[in-house]
Amino acid sequence: MRLNQPRIAVIGAGIIGSAITYNLAIRGADVLLLDEGPEPGSGVTGRAFGWVNVINGTPDHSSYALWREAVAEYQHLKTALPEALSDARPGSLIWRATPQETEQLADLHRRAGEDIELLRRGVVAEWEPHLRQVPECAVFSRNDLALDPARLAGTYVGAALAASAVARFSEKVAAVQTENGRVTGIRVAGGTLKADVVVMAAGSAIKTLAGEMGIDIGVETSPAILLRYACSRPVVSRILRGPRLEVRQAGDNTLFVAKSYVDDGIENGPQAIGQRTLAVMKDELDLPDDVRLTSADVGNRPVFADGLPRLGFLRPVEGLYIAVGHPGVILAPLIGRLAAEEIVDGRRTGLIPDPK
Ligand SMILES: Cc1cc2nc3c(=O)[nH]c(=O)nc-3n(C[C@H](O)[C@H](O)[C@H](O)COP(=O)(O)OP(=O)(O)OC[C@H]3O[C@@H](n4cnc5c(N)ncnc54)[C@H](O)[C@@H]3O)c2cc1C
Repeated sequence: MRLNQPRIAVIGAGIIGSAITYNLAIRGADVLLLDEGPEPGSGVTGRAFGWVNVINGTPDHSSYALWREAVAEYQHLKTALPEALSDARPGSLIWRATPQETEQLADLHRRAGEDIELLRRGVVAEWEPHLRQVPECAVFSRNDLALDPARLAGTYVGAALAASAVARFSEKVAAVQTENGRVTGIRVAGGTLKADVVVMAAGSAIKTLAGEMGIDIGVETSPAILLRYACSRPVVSRILRGPRLEVRQAGDNTLFVAKSYVDDGIENGPQAIGQRTLAVMKDELDLPDDVRLTSADVGNRPVFADGLPRLGFLRPVEGLYIAVGHPGVILAPLIGRLAAEEIVDGRRTGLIPDPK
C-alpha cells in the first residue's frame, strides 16, 4: 500500500487522459482513471483520423513548435512502449491543386526546418500505384505517422494498469468535490471517491464539468466527421492528402477519411457526405468494387480560439488540473509526460499555456 501519496483521479480515458494516466503510473503515482464510456477511446478519440504530423501546421503560428515537440515525443514513445506504435504507418504525401502550390508548401516547411522531400510524378506513381490522378509532384513528410488513436489509448491504459493504476469504465463523474477551495474527491453514482488531485481530461465535456464549478475555461466544441469504408485489399500505403481527398488505410484494409461537419440534414448529413466521398475516392483511386461506407461518425473536438491546448493547475481550486485541446492525437504523448512531470515532480516547462 502506498502511504502519504496524493491520490490522483483522472477523468477521461481518451487519448489525453490515457497518456497522462500512463505517465503518472510509471512514476509510481497512486492513480485512478474513470471514464463514462465502456473502454478507452470512447469519446472523440475513437473518431479521430489519426494523423501525427507537423506538415498541416503553420510555421509562423506558435502551435508549430509545439507540434514539432509532440511529433518528436512519439519517437521516445516508440522506445518506451513499443507496442503502442506497432501498427502505426510512417510517412504521408501531400499535394495541392497546382505543382507551384505544392512546391510552395515544400519550401515553406523546408525553410522552417522540417525533414520533407519533394517527389516527382514518377516516384509518387511508383510509391502509390493505385493513384489514378497522379500529381505532378507531392511533398513527402517522412516523420508523420498514421495510427489508430483508440488503440493507442487502450495500450496506454493497459500499460498503466500493469504499473498498478486502477481504471473504472462505464463510470460517469457527476461532479468534482471541493472544500475550502481545494479538491477533496469526485462524485460518481455510487458515492464519493476521495482524491487530492483531479485531472480533468474529459475532452469537450470539460466545459460542463468545469462549468458546474462556476469556471469557464474558454473551450469550444468543433465537430468533424470520420468516415470508415470496408475494403478487401491494400490500396494506399501512406496518408494521402490532395485537394479532394484525405485518406489513410489500416492494417485490416479499412479506409479512413476525415471531413468537415456541415449539418445533419439529408443533403449534407454525415451519411450523404460519406457516399459523395466514396464517389471521389473511386475517381482518385483504383478501388476494388466491394468498397462500402461502414460508418460516418461525428466527433466533437475540444478547441480554443488561439489553436493551442491548455495544461496545468487551475489556480482558483487547489488540486484541480486541466488537460485539453486540439490536436489531441498529435499532442497526447507530450501532454502525458508534461502533466505527470508537473503533478508528480512539480516541474513545469511552460510549453503549453495554463488554463485560465
Ligand atoms: C474526424 C476527426 C479527425 C481527427 N483527426 C485528428 C488527427 O488526425 N490528429 C489529431 O491529433 N487529432 C485529430 N482529431 C482530434 C482528436 O480526436 C482530439 O483532439 C482528441 O481525440 C481529444 O482527446 P481527448 O482525450 O481530449 O478527448 P476524448 O477522446 O473525448 O476523451 C474524453 C473522455 O472523457 C470521457 N468523459 C467525458 N465526461 C465524462 C464524465 N463526466 N465522467 C467520466 N468520463 C467522462 C469521455 O467518455 C471520453 O472518453 C480528429 C477529430 C475528428 C473528429
